[in-house]
Amino acid sequence: MTRQVVLVGAGHAHMEALRQARRFANAGLSLTLIDPGAFWYSGAATGVLSGALEPDAARLNPSDLEGPFEHMRQRVVSVDPHARTLTLQDGERRAYDVLSLNTGSRIPETPLLAAGAIPAKPVSALAGLRATLEANLGQLRLAVAGAGATGVEIALSMASLQRRLGARPQTLLAGPDLMPGWPDRARRLALEAMARCGVEYVPLRVQDLSLGLVHFGQRKVAPVDILVAATGLSANVPDGLDASEAGLPVSADLSWTGDAAVFAIGDCACMVKHPRPKLGVFGVRAAPILIQNLINAAMGRPARRQYTPQSRWLSILDVGDGTGLARYGDLAFQGKPALTLKRWLDGRFLQRYRVEP
Ligand SMILES: Cc1cc2nc3c(=O)[nH]c(=O)nc-3n(C[C@H](O)[C@H](O)[C@H](O)COP(=O)(O)OP(=O)(O)OC[C@H]3O[C@@H](n4cnc5c(N)ncnc54)[C@H](O)[C@@H]3O)c2cc1C
Repeated sequence: MTRQVVLVGAGHAHMEALRQARRFANAGLSLTLIDPGAFWYSGAATGVLSGALEPDAARLNPSDLEGPFEHMRQRVVSVDPHARTLTLQDGERRAYDVLSLNTGSRIPETPLLAAGAIPAKPVSALAGLRATLEANLGQLRLAVAGAGATGVEIALSMASLQRRLGARPQTLLAGPDLMPGWPDRARRLALEAMARCGVEYVPLRVQDLSLGLVHFGQRKVAPVDILVAATGLSANVPDGLDASEAGLPVSADLSWTGDAAVFAIGDCACMVKHPRPKLGVFGVRAAPILIQNLINAAMGRPARRQYTPQSRWLSILDVGDGTGLARYGDLAFQGKPALTLKRWLDGRFLQRYRVEP
């Protein structure tokens, strides 16, 4: 019987596996992707939000990739690793021999989401947010809860869209820790950019959203029409596996520590030996190792390649004023070349998966 390799989630690494689908077929394996929709590239998401890029610039359809694989437009609800089966949203069950999860992350359920805040993930929501702001000609009062790099970039992008629409930016960024893990110089540059671009930074935690007000505690409030929650990411893992908020624990060969026939990569995984922040770059770099290990595991070969994530990486925030804020280790730089580099890197990544008509 043909052995079944099932990929769940069209994340960064699985897009590369699909691009290399022929390798699975050449090894006599069947390859299936289960994902409900399109791949949205988060690196371009704030460019879409600010109006600098069109939504199509950030979106890819995995089915457009040519190759010997099946795409099931479904969501996986749970995994039974003992029976080696998956349960899909419509109740169908599907067997696998080797399973790989690349299901990303989400904003954890909090009272802010229950009160109507828009989650920063899935990033497709940011394209919808742009349409709402455009329909209101940029006149809405906006706030972001969570002052990590994602929150800063979203606040700057919304302010940029408001300027583009001819409105005065009314954008507030709230959170007690500004860009944790980033060097001091980057934080200083971000504060200067926010002051210049019309983003007011409030170093307080948003405690509640009600009746058009964000509440910071101690009776401090601010009026708001839209609140975006960028309050940190937790792993998206189907039920039935022993995962924490950090993700499914995986060894250096990217297999789950609980079952060597299950692999996980990207934001849904937690690399036990080398924990890293939730960033797309790690899934991209680990993809070749995942692909080889999936093929080896499905063919019953013991050989497994090991992945050691880099300890320094390049991050570039789109400031929304034609410049980028770049960080590599302890170094930080802001300017037009940083944004040019970001657009080039993002375009190069996406181009690999675009099929010319
Ligand atoms: C606004 C914003 C900007 C960001 N910018 C950057 C950046 O510039 N650089 C960077 O490195 N990181 C950035 N990040 C972080 C980045 O979003 C994540 O690290 C990255 O998307 C994770 O990629 P992934 O491959 O793990 O999964 P994703 O690319 O998120 O893909 C997950 C896929 O799994 C599918 N899926 C989920 N659950 C299921 C299920 N149960 N069944 C089937 N399919 C499922 C989804 O539909 C989706 O297609 C940003 C995040 C945000 C919110």
